[in-house]
Amino acid sequence: MFDILQKDKNSRARAGVIHTSHGTVETPSYAIVGTHAEVRAISPRELLDAKTQLVIANTYHLWRTLGEKLDLFEGLHERMKLPDTVIMTDSGGFQVFSFGFGREHGVGKVLGGEKKKASDNLTRITEEGVFFTNEEGEHFLGPKLSMEIQKKLGADIIFAFDECTSPEHDYAYQKEALGRTHRWANVCLKSHEIPFSYSRELENGKARDEQMLYGIVQGGMFEDLRKESAKYIGALPFDGFGIGGSFGEKKMGEVLGWVIPYLPEEKPRHLLGIGKIEDLFLGVENGIDTFDCVIPTREARHGGAWTAKGRIDLKKNKFKDDGEVIENGCGCETCTAGITRHQLREMYKLKDLRAGTSVTIHNVYFFNTLMGRIREAIQNGNFLEFKDRFLSQMR
Ligand SMILES: [Zn+2]
Repeated sequence: MFDILQKDKNSRARAGVIHTSHGTVETPSYAIVGTHAEVRAISPRELLDAKTQLVIANTYHLWRTLGEKLDLFEGLHERMKLPDTVIMTDSGGFQVFSFGFGREHGVGKVLGGEKKKASDNLTRITEEGVFFTNEEGEHFLGPKLSMEIQKKLGADIIFAFDECTSPEHDYAYQKEALGRTHRWANVCLKSHEIPFSYSRELENGKARDEQMLYGIVQGGMFEDLRKESAKYIGALPFDGFGIGGSFGEKKMGEVLGWVIPYLPEEKPRHLLGIGKIEDLFLGVENGIDTFDCVIPTREARHGGAWTAKGRIDLKKNKFKDDGEVIENGCGCETCTAGITRHQLREMYKLKDLRAGTSVTIHNVYFFNTLMGRIREAIQNGNFLEFKDRFLSQMR
């Protein structure tokens, strides 16, 4: 269930609350990524102390790792030791891209980003779903199975299985893939209604349908396809909506401008896999409620720390005598403990894992605090001023 508390008068931004059986998320909010049901480098307590309200785990990877043990899986809340935190799972649709055309085209989902080396496409896409190839052979994931897996994983918010396309796909392919994504959306909705044989929630006497199912809008960078998708998916009885797929680096705002007007105002909207500071402001301005991205956690393990002035690379030489904390005035455990940039640089150099832990704590706190300030600005009616002020101080 979703409540909108305040709408911004000068943009599509809104502040709200998502209610689930494991707690609430104040929106706009940032989902911290725990791919294998674990947020790397930090403990559940550190994650919560860094103001985390929302976490996302990965259906495809958990399915492959757990194998037959999935039937005995205790549920994500228990596994992650986060009984009162809202958890999402994606559907596996992104892996259709990352193991498929993402490899073949040598691209990420944001066009204009880093170009990678092209390699083999490890997917085979059919009307029923997708065959993935790895060293064990071929395995199949489709909409029905994705729903079954996500029910067993037991997240509060789950996503429909879709085909995430490549930004380099042409119009004809995007249209064909969009048809599949729409047909799969119906399969997911239908599967979601069928009582499921295993459900921890059911055993505890709670209703299964407390899992919110989000439909996903695709359509690449084509205006008519994006609008068609938003109209179609937006009219289906989903509990919320994800905006997925490929974007041009400069086109995200435009794509959101096409899509959002067709999605029901009263339901929450998630922007899949996007989470740079500029993109958060742009997303919120266009009516996005939640985001997920590996930026805070992955970058922390490699020396990247976020501050109000932008990203700094703590491995760099210029920090070798820097006795300041990552960010003055920051309330995270790392900065309040007085751990300096110089000390962190030394730890990275010595491959001391505490560097990754310390900086993950800071980064997660930084992004969660930023979302809190965005919520506050929306509530105070000065979101756009806050956006301009915040972005102008970044390098
Ligand atoms: Zn800090």
